[in-house]
Amino acid sequence: MTDKRPYLEALGIPLWLPRRPLANESVASRSPEDPNHPGAARHPSLAKEGNVEDRLESDLRMDEAEPEFLPPDDWTPLMADDREPPVETAATLSPPAPNRRAVTIGQMSWEELTAAVRECTACGLCATRTQTVFGVGHRQAEWLIIGEAPGADEDRLGEPFVGRAGKLLDPMLHAVGQNRERAYVANILKCRPPENRDPTPEEATQCRPFLNRQIALIRPRLILAVGRIAAQNLLGTDTPIGKLRGQVHRFGPARIPLVVTYHPAYLLRSPREKRKAWDDLRLARRALAAEPPAPIQNPTEP
Ligand code: URA
Repeated sequence: MTDKRPYLEALGIPLWLPRRPLANESVASRSPEDPNHPGAARHPSLAKEGNVEDRLESDLRMDEAEPEFLPPDDWTPLMADDREPPVETAATLSPPAPNRRAVTIGQMSWEELTAAVRECTACGLCATRTQTVFGVGHRQAEWLIIGEAPGADEDRLGEPFVGRAGKLLDPMLHAVGQNRERAYVANILKCRPPENRDPTPEEATQCRPFLNRQIALIRPRLILAVGRIAAQNLLGTDTPIGKLRGQVHRFGPARIPLVVTYHPAYLLRSPREKRKAWDDLRLARRALAAEPPAPIQNPTEP
């Protein structure tokens, strides 16, 4: 089982521990609804009442002894809103009419798509790239993570999120039980924009059929849009990222739930926002849990 504590620590999420019962309290006499009932220890954040000093003191006492109170390794803090159904946006996106190139790409196999990306010259970035950055991960991933564009490290190594931002993306994924082998990680652009400038709308438009085909082949159950550029491109909007967070959008005709979070590069510059990113990840997890199970695929069907 994965120990999530290091990842929560990397995100700056404090690990809350359950309050120890007072010596003169009878545990057996409590009802299961009682937040101090032992059953509440699985989700200690819900069991907490009282002021911050009380809680800190109690948590510090917990640090001293009683290892049987430690939560299991797969435990993550349950917040008060964890049982609320996620808020959904009403808007359904109607994709633009595909052109001939998009139609061709839209019928490609993984192998054809990989070759087409490698050889692509549809925009000027082909002149400055070292190599294309196709994407990495499981081809039937439940979680699809979409970032902005390769940076210098990704351009050199041919894999998304391998630089500093990736060092934070990895613990973010681990915190929700994912990693880059289990999930799929891709970008709006397959090529690095020089000087790490924002992708132009033209570059994003030219690259989009590749990403659309990856999405159609993977059929993820959840898309996590990482950063403003990814969120605005995928949702076809110029709404600020702060307004796109905190709700479950729907992507494409399959209406895949899409959740927006901050880019790890931004979180490295603004570590105080990590708490919000953690909220986004929990929203994503709830959105996925609220989805009907994926249909079982008949291996004889295409
Ligand atoms: N930032 C991104 O958005 N994607 C990468 O692959 C690397 C950095």
